[in-house]
Amino acid sequence: MSTKSATPDTTRAHLLAQARARREWDIAVIGGGATGCGVALDAAARGFSVLLLEAVDFSAGTSSRATKLVHGGVRYLAQGNVALVREALHERATLLANAPHLAQPLAFVMPGYHWWERGFYGIGLKMYDALAGWRSLGDTEFLSSAKTREFLPTVRTNGLCGGVKYWDGQFDDARLAVTLARTAVAQGAVVLNHCPVTALLREDGKVKGVVARDDETGETLKIAAKCVVNATGVWVDDLRNMDRDKGAPDKPDIVAPSQGVHLVVDRAFLPGTHALLVPKTGDGRVLFAVPWLGKTILGTTDTPRDDVVLEPTPFVEEVEFILREAGRYLERAPTRQDVRSVWVGLRPLVKPGDDDGDDTKQLSREHTVLVGHSGLVTVTGGKWTTYRAMAEDVLERCFDRHLLPRIAKGVTARLPLLGASKRKGVSMTQAPGEHLYGSEVALLHALPGATHWLWRDSESGQGSLSEAMVRFAVRHEMARSVEDVLARRSRLLFLDAAEAARQAGAVAAILTDELGPGFDAVASQRRFEALAQQYRTLP
Ligand SMILES: Cc1cc2nc3c(=O)[nH]c(=O)nc-3n(C[C@H](O)[C@H](O)[C@H](O)COP(=O)(O)OP(=O)(O)OC[C@H]3O[C@@H](n4cnc5c(N)ncnc54)[C@H](O)[C@@H]3O)c2cc1C
Repeated sequence: MSTKSATPDTTRAHLLAQARARREWDIAVIGGGATGCGVALDAAARGFSVLLLEAVDFSAGTSSRATKLVHGGVRYLAQGNVALVREALHERATLLANAPHLAQPLAFVMPGYHWWERGFYGIGLKMYDALAGWRSLGDTEFLSSAKTREFLPTVRTNGLCGGVKYWDGQFDDARLAVTLARTAVAQGAVVLNHCPVTALLREDGKVKGVVARDDETGETLKIAAKCVVNATGVWVDDLRNMDRDKGAPDKPDIVAPSQGVHLVVDRAFLPGTHALLVPKTGDGRVLFAVPWLGKTILGTTDTPRDDVVLEPTPFVEEVEFILREAGRYLERAPTRQDVRSVWVGLRPLVKPGDDDGDDTKQLSREHTVLVGHSGLVTVTGGKWTTYRAMAEDVLERCFDRHLLPRIAKGVTARLPLLGASKRKGVSMTQAPGEHLYGSEVALLHALPGATHWLWRDSESGQGSLSEAMVRFAVRHEMARSVEDVLARRSRLLFLDAAEAARQAGAVAAILTDELGPGFDAVASQRRFEALAQQYRTLP
């Protein structure tokens, strides 16, 4: 069983000491994205002893590369999947309530250029709204052309017949993952980033734990656990293949990755606080232009990929598609020169079918939980918005298979995450700043360099990255490298890759001060600069 604390000690030495000290854990979770962090928090909050191991950093995989929408999935409604939409709308409300500093409502406008579009899409969106019931974030409205232009001042006006406005939510995905990991620690879990699992411990065909490597020291950690959860997103098949007898053939893959590209341009392309949704592009896809943290995100694509890499690169056709379609709906078409950052995420799409004798359960929604003969629990698919419900499903399967005693009900539906504050927050569409720290802002102000700004948002002048924020990232948010800070604690890499590269030296210097002489500042800075170069380079 775990012990809970209000202010979690997340120093690496403390977490490693705990990981070494315990003889056996109730659950070892592999993977620190939305899914793994959600499972760790749910299990720890029920009172189980939990160790989470992440190979790179919390949300370094798909979970920092979402379109940042907390949504019910209008698309599934069009497919008649009412149950799925209703559940996602429920989860949307839960997330907005439990993390108001990181997730907020966002109004979307669908401009119409044909007489029938307003009515056709408007009725569907009214149903979407009705399904949300008392959790609705605002009424769906039919808009005149003038109102559409008011909400989307840069929308193409030629041929505009009006629009429809509806509500969903948006969030900071990477900060939410880090916050979930920290909240799990506050509930008694131990979480370690930069600690890949390299093998599974097996005995008589059953999984009894994992072997992990501390990437900073090379130390091998042997972790015994009653239950092992494989929550590694597009990498689940690698882990499933560690779970086989010597000489046995590879297991068939259950994941078919599909990549999604986002381009980030200045706020001037879409000023205001409304997102633009194109429900059907020239080739039948959906395109979003979303105001986020002082910039505009354009995306996304859906391109199958055979290779699974941490930093996939976009295809030229994907970039051309996004720029071309955005240009059809915005008065000023964005060009390649306008792109401040390009990032690519891999969707873990689950292949239908059974897994070679494993007990599979394709749930009536997008995610899959699968328990192998060995007891290895694999969870993948789904979306960020429903991470909490996915975690509850995983725990249910562990109880059903007697991997864990059914001792308690889940409590995360009403569990505010660290920093959640009742004060009305600054909109997520505005440049990043101290407001993202919610009720922990006093903790931030107590650190050296609270008024020493490394980066101010160029359009608003808002202080967006301070020396104290970098220190906070190390002391409280488990950042261990320049990339951990500039990609996932601050989102500068995703907003403006060239500016992020310019800040790498200053961040490396503060990290040296925080982490001591063992920290290789030069290597960390160089690695990050190479990554930033990738994020600013279009094919
Ligand atoms: C382009 C795109 C846009 C999206 N937009 C949205 C959106 O707007 N809203 C929404 O709700 N959802 C969205 N999604 C879906 C959502 O982002 C994913 O469903 C979710 O992030 C998946 O999380 P995960 O934890 O399963 O996987 P990941 O985030 O990939 O986490 C898996 C983790 O496992 C780690 N790992 C791998 N191997 C090992 C190992 N051996 N040992 C330890 N750790 C390991 C990886 O480093 C990684 O961090 C989007 C997805 C994509 C691709």
